Amino acid sequence: MDKIYLYNTLIRKKELFIPIKKSKVSMYTCGPTVYWYQHIGNLRTMLLNDFLKRVLLHCGYKVKHVMNITDVDDKTIKASMNENISLKDLTTKYEEIFLIDLNSLNIITPNILVRATDSIKDMVKLIKTLQKKGYAYKTSDGIYFSILKFKNYGKLAILNKLKKTKARIISDNYDKSNVKDFALWKFYTENDGVVFWETEIGKGRPGWHIECSAMSMKYLGDNFDIHTGGTDLIFPHHTNEIAQSEATTNKKFVNYWIHGGFLTMKESKMSKSLGNIITLKELIQQTYSPMHFRYLCLQTHYRKALNFSWENLDAARSAHKKLERKIIQLKKEKHKGADKKKEYEKKFHEAIYDDLNFPRALQIIWKIIEDESFDSEKKLRFIEHLDSVLGLNIKEISEDNNIAIPPEVQKLIDSRERLRKAKLWAEADIIRERIKEFGYQIEDTPDGPQIEKLYRED
Ligand SMILES: [Zn+2]
Repeated sequence: MDKIYLYNTLIRKKELFIPIKKSKVSMYTCGPTVYWYQHIGNLRTMLLNDFLKRVLLHCGYKVKHVMNITDVDDKTIKASMNENISLKDLTTKYEEIFLIDLNSLNIITPNILVRATDSIKDMVKLIKTLQKKGYAYKTSDGIYFSILKFKNYGKLAILNKLKKTKARIISDNYDKSNVKDFALWKFYTENDGVVFWETEIGKGRPGWHIECSAMSMKYLGDNFDIHTGGTDLIFPHHTNEIAQSEATTNKKFVNYWIHGGFLTMKESKMSKSLGNIITLKELIQQTYSPMHFRYLCLQTHYRKALNFSWENLDAARSAHKKLERKIIQLKKEKHKGADKKKEYEKKFHEAIYDDLNFPRALQIIWKIIEDESFDSEKKLRFIEHLDSVLGLNIKEISEDNNIAIPPEVQKLIDSRERLRKAKLWAEADIIRERIKEFGYQIEDTPDGPQIEKLYRED
């Protein structure tokens, strides 16, 4: 097996990746909080997971990928009250939209998706262990983790070296008796409405951090290979996950921490609280395809900030369209030539196995395309093979793509049919709306669904 080097936030360096089990990789990702649409900054992090997973698979590993869905916290409870629907209805709706976003971006769905509300028992069990071991204490409003009790607190964030981050701990909104500690369990207050669990540790709901410790260890064990997330999660979220998990098990929690750079707009981080967000839905309404966004993300190394602008996205669209034209042309060509697969494969592997250098991998793809001495049929097959890592759906590109239904829309149509057969009308309607966002109208006829295009891309 080839050697893969990954940048590990724990040591702030690239290092050789050695999994715990010889050919299997265990990987956990902090998933979305499903209270609204995910913005394209969140989706960039989801693309990082996909790039990483595809590289591991290409290298020959089996990957067990677990992701959580945060379907209970302050934001979801507040949003369900604002939208005047139950927490379950709200989170189901945005979870569905999130999964469709993943599908549209050709992101491989995690092997295991776990909702926080389905794992309350596991969290309670973990909190009870932390209480028994003396790491957790009770106050009037909840159960807290005492970070002073955990010797290595803040190792991931290098807290003792970063004064700025230290200042942030002090200003964070934790229990007043010890400003540094964080909540494992929040006791019920009237603001929670009908959202609570009656448990052995009291009536209430879990804190966000305990969710990820409980769910990752439940499915991947006490010590697993890779944990991913956005850079903004290093502190406090991932720092607290390590503290909770290692305090419970006395074992190293995660071997490799991989963090993706921000997606910024006009130099500031994209976030709902700053009000500068763009969703995939908006990109599609502006007639971009999700693949154009995927291409844009492939062009920037995952650890670098990606400064999003419509001009950048236009450039990515042009490049992607040029790629489509070249592939269509290549599919018609029949000129004999050398098989240069070995030569290029080595370079391509060097790029992707060097901390997922996709910008370089894309350049190599273009070199292959432009190489006139490469046998055309062998070249096409080779590019299709490498595309299993890029995920650009090169196999599906054909001349009549403009009038035919794109694969992402076809996938939606298929899943809508499945939902209708199961009489899940409300869910089917959500997908119908989603199909519309792609510019297609769906009409149910006795002969099955008929599709009509609403507008053209150009
Ligand atoms: Zn998490």
